[in-house]
Amino acid sequence: MRRLENHPGYFGFVADPVYLQKKLEDHRSFSMAMFSLFACMGTTLWIWDYVTDPAGARNTIGLRLFFLVFFAISFAFKHVRNRRLLAFISMGSTLLAEVIFVEILNRLNTGMTYGIGEFMFFMFMPLVLFQGFSLRLNLSYTFIAAATPHLLAAVDFAHNFQQSHYAVLIWPAAVMTMLVQFAFALNYLRRHESESALELASNTDPMTGVSNRRHFMPLLQREIIRNHRLGRRVSLLMLDIDHFKKINDTYGHPTGDLVICMLASICRKASREIDTVARLGGEEFAILLPETDIQQALVVAERVRSAVEGASVISLSGKELHFTVSIGIAEQPPEDKSEENLIGRADTALYQAKTSGRNRVVSNLQT
Ligand code: GH3
Ligand code: MG
Ligand code: MG
Repeated sequence: MRRLENHPGYFGFVADPVYLQKKLEDHRSFSMAMFSLFACMGTTLWIWDYVTDPAGARNTIGLRLFFLVFFAISFAFKHVRNRRLLAFISMGSTLLAEVIFVEILNRLNTGMTYGIGEFMFFMFMPLVLFQGFSLRLNLSYTFIAAATPHLLAAVDFAHNFQQSHYAVLIWPAAVMTMLVQFAFALNYLRRHESESALELASNTDPMTGVSNRRHFMPLLQREIIRNHRLGRRVSLLMLDIDHFKKINDTYGHPTGDLVICMLASICRKASREIDTVARLGGEEFAILLPETDIQQALVVAERVRSAVEGASVISLSGKELHFTVSIGIAEQPPEDKSEENLIGRADTALYQAKTSGRNRVVSNLQT
């Protein structure tokens, strides 16, 4: 699970692609609905053209039909996964719509006088259409959308455009929506952070910080299916501390807890980023090793076993104590997709390790 602690997201700015993709996914349906609405609004606002200049409105019908393209953008929000591509086509076509709107105003008598307020719509787009994109992208869009009519007038594309009227009306609106974008982005980020913290807490064993059983079981099922699809092997290690009752009885329960934490820490050090260490209960742990066959799993298990043997824990009364662990290993056969069978095999191997003397690694090939 990714945490955002490396991406503090000051003022709502976050560059983490995982976070940005999640933000997009969370806003997909909203953006789809809003783009369809924008398509309807952009075309039916031809009525405004007609009210402003009935004669000129005859020449704007074709341009108004351009806004139907936003139905296609709405469709793209449903199907396009690539965040950058989606931002490019949706923001690009919205900016193009602004250029077309300038041409609509060009074709209407007094269009540029009465229509100047309509540029306000383009300032609101980040709040309405682009909530799923990053704050940085939205602020850039707002700036470009606000500046575009100035530039079009400068190259004589916008006729009778009054730079100062536009500037005093639209730029304050642009700044205002930028501030609201800050607030929205920060709000989403805080919500995401608290959701992530809750998720992490519900998936983690509080004493050791490794995964708990609730998180581990569905993960095991998913990994088996994923590796099966890719034609790769999955191995599972089941670990149980030897004579743990005696440790509790001799040194006390709190020292027993220190021993459990030491085992968790050794398991974590011995495993890779893609492996999952879980505390299944008491002093029993499991390590899931994706893309790993039983020979490689044996190496990991032996590394854990010998590290435990060499480790020491200082009891609460100051005494140094040593402990050992028994480990059972199983590899998922390619034809089997049941996680219960895998656990069963590893458990049988663990039982063998216990009955054949403890402090050893047994694989299900040996049982
Ligand atoms: P074996 O070698 O056969 O595994 O013997 P064992 O004594 O370790 O037996 P078992 O695995 O059944 O022992 C589990 C003990 O773990 C029983 C219980 O009191 C203790 N235990 C369970 N949860 C905790 C915990 O959170 N902290 C501590 N300190 N002890 C726990
Ligand atoms: Mg046990
Ligand atoms: Mg035990």
